[in-house]
Amino acid sequence: MEFEKIFKNNEKWVADKLALDSNYFTELAKGQAPEILYIGCADSRVTAEDLMGLQPGELFVHRNVANMVVSVDLNVMSVINYAINHLKVKHVVVCGHYECGGVKASLQPVDLGILNPWLRNIRDVYRMYQQELDAITDEKLRFDRLVELNVQEQCINVIKTAAVQKAYKERGLTVQGWVFDVRTGKLIDLKINFKEILANIMKIYNLE
Ligand SMILES: [Zn+2]
Repeated sequence: MEFEKIFKNNEKWVADKLALDSNYFTELAKGQAPEILYIGCADSRVTAEDLMGLQPGELFVHRNVANMVVSVDLNVMSVINYAINHLKVKHVVVCGHYECGGVKASLQPVDLGILNPWLRNIRDVYRMYQQELDAITDEKLRFDRLVELNVQEQCINVIKTAAVQKAYKERGLTVQGWVFDVRTGKLIDLKINFKEILANIMKIYNLE
């Protein structure tokens, strides 16, 4: 990778933006008002704005290994809190992807050092859905299904937070679960039933 090329690319990008709108960066500097908080995987193939055709300022982004929402992770919790309480985003999207290295690693019961506590959260998803997953004989399809179930569980983890529950009641915030298919480039909506999940878990997780 030649860094010189990156800076050249940047110069061209600035010129392209200014050619379309000479006030582009003046406007950008005024502040941000994104409508979506995107929680995705750190995987280099799964970009955020690029695959959705969105521009700077349209997406508040958090990425980590396997798009996890872990309640003791101060990083993701700070991002969720800031996005909801201060930026007032209207939607939270958890986006996983097929061929996810983090999910794949969690399917192999081996010691992976510092990754162990992180991956254990995905292994827990596997344990919760073990019956369904073990019934899938095709290894690739089982891997795909765990990617989807992991997205669903991370959406539930988002819904467990007080900030999300409050914003849902006050202004109809939604939570979406998507999967990016790296084999085709397509974005798949898992159609997570936010209302149903909320109704099912509120007896235990209601923080209002
Ligand atoms: Zn991944």
